[in-house]
Amino acid sequence: MAGYSKETARLWMAMDIGPLWIGRDEDDPLSPQSIAKDSTAKEITTAPKSVAEQNSTHSDAFKPASTVNKTPPHEHSVLTSPESHKPKTYELKPIRRSSAEPGIVEVDSELLTRAQNADWKTLQTLVSQCTACKALSQSRLSTVFGTAEKTAKMVIVGEAPGRDEDLQGKPFVGKSGELLENILRSLGLRRGADVAIINVLKCRPPNNRDPHDNEIAACATFLTRQLELLDPKVIVLSGRIASHALLKTEMSTGRLRGQTHHIEVNGKPIPTVVTYHPSYLLRSPTEKICAWRDFNLAKKLLLELS
Ligand code: URA
Repeated sequence: MAGYSKETARLWMAMDIGPLWIGRDEDDPLSPQSIAKDSTAKEITTAPKSVAEQNSTHSDAFKPASTVNKTPPHEHSVLTSPESHKPKTYELKPIRRSSAEPGIVEVDSELLTRAQNADWKTLQTLVSQCTACKALSQSRLSTVFGTAEKTAKMVIVGEAPGRDEDLQGKPFVGKSGELLENILRSLGLRRGADVAIINVLKCRPPNNRDPHDNEIAACATFLTRQLELLDPKVIVLSGRIASHALLKTEMSTGRLRGQTHHIEVNGKPIPTVVTYHPSYLLRSPTEKICAWRDFNLAKKLLLELS
């Protein structure tokens, strides 16, 4: 198609997006106009301080440092859409999910205390020994700890293992993992070496149901320690469960994405991008363009901080 390079077409192919509908999209992030607009946009927008920290009824395991949208000037050639610069302000609300049924959860406080100071290998062993969530620990085939190498500067946080992950003991290995890997490859990022992948829950919920709040809370120490050990420059929250757990909000992914949040890790506010979960993208392929923009924003932040 005129005006689009081979590289652009390759990225579309990798994401399984047809060029026709992208070509019709008014807000095509890959169009020369968008790129030109994008490279001149210089905005720093400050939202009011989050109320979640003051009002949250949840544990302090995860701290959303702020919802400040700081978008520094571009210095890199990563493609981003103007959307990532839109000023958005909102207030985070504490989670109140009355519909969530509590499963039986009995945490082993000694194990969790050890987890708080554990190294990566020890933490993995402690996770494999955890039986706090009765339903999950009885039905799981394996615990899924995560894939990471020391060099990884970006961390993607997913929801919980599914069937394939439970069978293989690795995160994102099914169809959604394939899509995620295609996205990363298109951005020139390697799973493991550049990008660590972890989940909110380390065990598969039976029948892939949503994790319960008390299960998320029971696993929070492991997730917090993983983030501390990985010490990422940028975090990507993949889908509703991860963004609700880590940003302490019930806001939809559609409203949370397209801006930079911050999560406190090791006392530092880490730039955090919310995007749609790959499983959702498989069901709603027209949203892939949004995920593409989100990942470009994450990569841009990574380059700026590296
Ligand atoms: N979905 C997730 O959120 N995580 C996985 O590991 C697999 C599917």
